[in-house]
Amino acid sequence: MALEQLSTGDGGWSEAHAWAALKELSKQHPRVELSAISTANAVHGEVPEEISKLFAEPTLSQIFLEQTAPEHVSTVAAAWQQARLRGAAHCRAVLLREPDTERSLYWLDFREAFGIVLLIVLPSDDAMALATVPPVAFVVRDRIMVHLADETSQLLAIDDATTETLGWGDEVLGQTTLSFIHPEDHERSIAMWVELLADPGGARQVRLRYRHVDGHYLWVETTNVNLLLTEGHIRREVVDVTEEVRAVGDARNRELVLASLAEALPSGIAQFDQMLQQVFSNRQWDQMLAERRDVDLAEFAADVGLVPTARDATDALRGGTTLRKEITLESRDDGSERRYRLHIEPVTESDGTFEGAVCCLDDITESWNLQRRLSAQATSDALTGLANRSGIVATLDAVLAEARAQQMTTAVLFLDFDGFKRVNDQFGHAAGDTLLGEIAETFRLCLRPDDTIGRQGGDEFIVVCRDVGGVAGATAVAQRLLRAASGSWSIRGQRVETRASCGITLDVNGRSTSEALIAEADLAMYEHKRDRGAGPVVFRRSMFDEQRLELRRDTALATATTDGSLEVHYQPIVTLNTQSLVGFEALARWRFDDAPVGPDVFIPAAERRAFIDDIGEFVLREVCAASALDPTLDLVWSVNVSPVQLANTDFPATVSDALDGSGLAPARLALEITEGMPIVQSAKTRKVLFDLHDLGVRIMVDDFGTGFASLDYLRDLPMSAVKIDRSFVDDLDNPRTAAIVETVVSMADRLDLYVVTEGVETDEQRQALMAMGARMGQGYLFGRPEALTAHTLHRYRPSGRSRSAH
Ligand code: C2E
Ligand code: CA
Ligand code: CA
Repeated sequence: MALEQLSTGDGGWSEAHAWAALKELSKQHPRVELSAISTANAVHGEVPEEISKLFAEPTLSQIFLEQTAPEHVSTVAAAWQQARLRGAAHCRAVLLREPDTERSLYWLDFREAFGIVLLIVLPSDDAMALATVPPVAFVVRDRIMVHLADETSQLLAIDDATTETLGWGDEVLGQTTLSFIHPEDHERSIAMWVELLADPGGARQVRLRYRHVDGHYLWVETTNVNLLLTEGHIRREVVDVTEEVRAVGDARNRELVLASLAEALPSGIAQFDQMLQQVFSNRQWDQMLAERRDVDLAEFAADVGLVPTARDATDALRGGTTLRKEITLESRDDGSERRYRLHIEPVTESDGTFEGAVCCLDDITESWNLQRRLSAQATSDALTGLANRSGIVATLDAVLAEARAQQMTTAVLFLDFDGFKRVNDQFGHAAGDTLLGEIAETFRLCLRPDDTIGRQGGDEFIVVCRDVGGVAGATAVAQRLLRAASGSWSIRGQRVETRASCGITLDVNGRSTSEALIAEADLAMYEHKRDRGAGPVVFRRSMFDEQRLELRRDTALATATTDGSLEVHYQPIVTLNTQSLVGFEALARWRFDDAPVGPDVFIPAAERRAFIDDIGEFVLREVCAASALDPTLDLVWSVNVSPVQLANTDFPATVSDALDGSGLAPARLALEITEGMPIVQSAKTRKVLFDLHDLGVRIMVDDFGTGFASLDYLRDLPMSAVKIDRSFVDDLDNPRTAAIVETVVSMADRLDLYVVTEGVETDEQRQALMAMGARMGQGYLFGRPEALTAHTLHRYRPSGRSRSAH
């Protein structure tokens, strides 16, 4: 049996009640003009089209929630529910109008009366654009299903709405309602029923799940009225609230998830409304910002330098711009600096309405500190404050990129000190470091603003000259640097001389790479170091071949003392007047690839590669052997000793071993020590020299007059002879040179030192030197260095006195 008389679609009691309820409501809302009333199926009065569209459908809970902006669904559903239970509720919500991009903010007022929900919609004061729209009131009702049941809850009648919504047909009649209720809801349902039966004329509401014929459940709200006494049945109105329950559940869930997420995250999170006032923040946010936390977001943004003024922050956010910045704030605990990444994201509705902003604050102090330390270490040199290797490479990378774009020439200079190690050895590393710092300072003054200098490590510097004027420009910079590098410095009251070598390479239009350019400049520098005469050396391609050759040569040097490639030649030392033989100087000779290599080349190489001790010992043993060739000759045998050998404390033992094995008297061995190095100041070397002196060997200053510590040598060390350098003998025509030689000879006489003059090539030189008082000489005039055998030695016998140069 259908219940047509109870249906509401064709007007009837419900509308009359609605009108009454609405009038009642309007008294409480003086601003409301009753311009429209809508019921499920009928509209009275004038309803703006957009509104009538909203409510044209019968099931309000569904339609209404569909028309509510997602973020407000839970609010509206909750108000709806509250109105049902408590009779009234209101809330503010954004309603979507068709199409759903249109959004406006409304005040919603819900009133329940007689199973009908009244809804008054008022344009929100905030929705300025809608200020002209008059308030609208609606009476809307749900699609209500009606059942009649007996006291045992057996269904007596259902209406069409029930069939439509739940799929129930006449077959349900006679069955108890309980059989359609979700088992979990039985208890609640029975409790309600018991109460209801005890209350004739009373009504009870309960929310539970009804089973649809196809098996799924719907959430319904049932209002049961006990009409047993008057009408002989219980009347039940049923409203499908599935959507609403789901919406509330979802929203509630979402809120819970978001809230616990916000607390679980390490980030500080806060939400700000349209006026940029804080409406939500998690604990982390509050902790990070401490006393700043309640500030206006716009002011905060300006405060931390994200934008110039608060106004700019508002404008940017309203314009939909995301603001991001790393900020540094002082920690409240200890005043230390903490670094945060601040991210402010405007919240804008799809129609562009500005809704406020959400902020995220991440503490990145740890990584920031680490990064700061690393990058400081990574690009700058702690000692000089200049860029370090990676710093200079980064600079060079950038300059080359610019050169590619701007068609520029770049120069790279590689500068290296000659023997800076000695400064460290002599004065300690701290003093060496201080000196490097001072030098770096003067270097900086030599550079143009476009140039960058860095320390590659040790005593090596790299200069990048941006947009340089070709070779000439780069060479000018190099020369300035070399001048700055070569000087006399004072360390703890002592003078230290420094000198550097420099290589240059050029790049045109950024074609090369940083690493390649540095390697080229390094190679060119190396050539400058070997060939002191010239100025800074510009890189040539062929240097790579030379380098390869040199590497091969240096490697071969390792076996020189054992593979027969090394031998010793002897050059006679004679008296200048009678040219009678007084001794020989031993000079090492080496062949590589079947060609002679000068000692000027292989001795420094042997020094660098640490083969010099072996070679020195080899020469020494050869000399001892040669001295035994003719024991009747009472000669002094001169052997050149490298400063590297003198730094080795085993050297005196090597010498005495060699002497012991050969029977050569120590006094007949002279060790020639070149004077180019300030060995006087090295305690270790001094000790070696005194040990040698104690052995009884003679020590001779070689190349006298060319170094910078000649007189120190004579004053402080146990010297027995000086060898006046060939450059003086070459230049005897110069009266000043002649005066120097004369002075040295007479000084040596007074110090009881022998004097040997070196490089005598002409008889005029011999005469001149004799006139200056010199007594002994060595040079091509008397004999070239040559291999010595018993046979060649025979020529030097006192009987064969008259010899001349070959
Ligand atoms: P030094 O000790 O000054 O040797 C003298 C150099 O002058 C030798 O060159 C010799 O051949 C050259 N010389 C001699 N008389 C004349 C002359 O009248 N005119 C000219 N123009 N030159 C003359 P060398 O043999 O090429 O040696 C070069 C340097 O290599 C030596 O200079 C010495 O410092 C070093 N050296 C040679 N052999 C050894 C060695 O066994 N051990 C060490 N540590 N150094 C050595
Ligand atoms: Ca010599
Ligand atoms: Ca010499």
